[in-house]
Amino acid sequence: MTSETIATDQDAIIVGAGLGGLRTMIELRKLGISFRCFEAGDGIGGTWFWNRYPGARTDSESWTYCYQFDRELFEEWDWHDRFPGQVEVENYLNFVADRFDLRKDIQLGATVKGATFDEDSSTWTVTLEDGTTSTSRYFIVAGGPLAARYTPDLKGIDDFGGTWVHTSRWPEGGIDVRGKRVGIVGTGATGVQLIPELAKEAANVTVFQRTPNYVIPARNHPLSDTDRRSLKADADRISNVVREHWFGMDLGMAGRLTTDVTPEEQQKILEWGWEIGGFHFIFETFDDIFLTHEANEVVAEFVRNKIRQIVKDPETAEKLAPKGYPIASKRVPLGHYYYEAYNRPNVDLVDVSENALAEATSSGITLADGTHYDVDILVFATGFDASTGSITRMDIRGRDGLTIQESWAEGAQTHLGVATKGFPNLFMVFGPQTPFANFPPVAENIVEFLSQALTHLEESGAATMEATQEAMDEWAEHLDVLLNALVLSEGERVRSWFVGANIPGKPHKVLFHFGGVAAYCASTQAVIDEGWKGFVFEGSSAKKDAVPA
Ligand code: NAP
Repeated sequence: MTSETIATDQDAIIVGAGLGGLRTMIELRKLGISFRCFEAGDGIGGTWFWNRYPGARTDSESWTYCYQFDRELFEEWDWHDRFPGQVEVENYLNFVADRFDLRKDIQLGATVKGATFDEDSSTWTVTLEDGTTSTSRYFIVAGGPLAARYTPDLKGIDDFGGTWVHTSRWPEGGIDVRGKRVGIVGTGATGVQLIPELAKEAANVTVFQRTPNYVIPARNHPLSDTDRRSLKADADRISNVVREHWFGMDLGMAGRLTTDVTPEEQQKILEWGWEIGGFHFIFETFDDIFLTHEANEVVAEFVRNKIRQIVKDPETAEKLAPKGYPIASKRVPLGHYYYEAYNRPNVDLVDVSENALAEATSSGITLADGTHYDVDILVFATGFDASTGSITRMDIRGRDGLTIQESWAEGAQTHLGVATKGFPNLFMVFGPQTPFANFPPVAENIVEFLSQALTHLEESGAATMEATQEAMDEWAEHLDVLLNALVLSEGERVRSWFVGANIPGKPHKVLFHFGGVAAYCASTQAVIDEGWKGFVFEGSSAKKDAVPA
């Protein structure tokens, strides 16, 4: 920035020092754009700072759950596990912050309360919870798609006599569950990781399950020195494949459909995927899993049969076996001996699908039919107001005082998931309507697009960049088409966060781009190639009293 541009405290304010925020900071440094990052947590890492519940780890293989833009960075870091645990990822992100000297521009423990756009100066004023304010030209929200926690509004929770916690606020020192009766609400990816871990120590674990998930085995293991050496030698291939693969992982196509092989061969192939672990089971067995109900049902039934084989009590197995909805229309969790945990004498499964949680009492939980369960510790693994929550929980005001809540009253609307009309120079990293895929390659794609957008803004001398309504409508239509082509579109019926259906009262709208990382990247490139189609650039960034050169 030159001294002739409008004076602000810094060029950009970034919200969030997690995976997306850190990558944004590295990019802005390269561009010479000054910034300040406000991070609510007392440490760096975003999701990986907050989600420290026992068992928390990635569902992505470590060599893909990292930045790919810098070959040296990729080679410098040694991953310990195939699927790294929370501490490992938190350490990695702290390593990145130090390596790129980012800490000096990050303010920890700083929660952004709101941000207001001033039309005269085309600047943003950001207000923190403690009342302090700061100004910038660019307001970049990198709060994370799964940051705003959701806890059901359970009657009587304030009267509960034990300890209750949401998994994303697990205390740093842990919770001592030894000898305690623990109740867990929720069997999404978080509950699936947590349940086997707590079962090892608690006197008793009662799982309150509303919808069973299709859980596939992770098969985590430590990486050897040889593994690490060969992964580093393979860095170029990995970097290319995560940008090309639909889900942004080190995976290939199966190259076959369920209809290409006999039922016996189908079972053999699925068995291979089950044994190798991770998302290979979904992406490298049959290419029609997401495309036809028949193919999806072959895979779904295979998982149900696995549950029936693993879980010794047939009644419990049937309760755990998902029925009536396609595999992957809710995000498939990876399990670490999840189904095996139900063979322990201290784990009980309670089906609350038709007998809902009614209230918390001083001693535990009561269901709608009056059945009561005594618990000492109550854990809500109940997920997040995904995608939009980290943005709408702030008081963001754009042109004419329009709030983000008003603008998105009928569902989020964006162009490319990066910008939204009425909020000039507000950019989102992982905003709604960005790809549903492994987070790091998605973040890298978005930040690379943002980098080009900011370069264009700076070079053009325009004051603001803003999405048009037409572009947002087209993007929403495009996203509908992408999701409706897949069997995953049934997510609305099964309360999937893909479409906002997990939060009571939230408008149902497609919140993710289901076309894959490479297709999203092609869309962003097309926008650039077509002269920033769908964006308007207005005003002049020059100071009104600047002396012309
Ligand atoms: P989630 O998938 O939204 O699951 C929330 C669970 O809480 C569901 O089982 C839901 O039941 C249940 N629930 C919510 N309200 C309830 C109520 N009133 N009564 C009974 N049950 C209720 O949340 P999550 O497990 O935290 O996972 C969210 C996402 O975070 C994941 O899909 C994943 O993308 C990410 N994550 C990733 C990892 C990883 O990569 N390893 C780990 C954890 C989380 P219904 O299904 O019936 O609504």
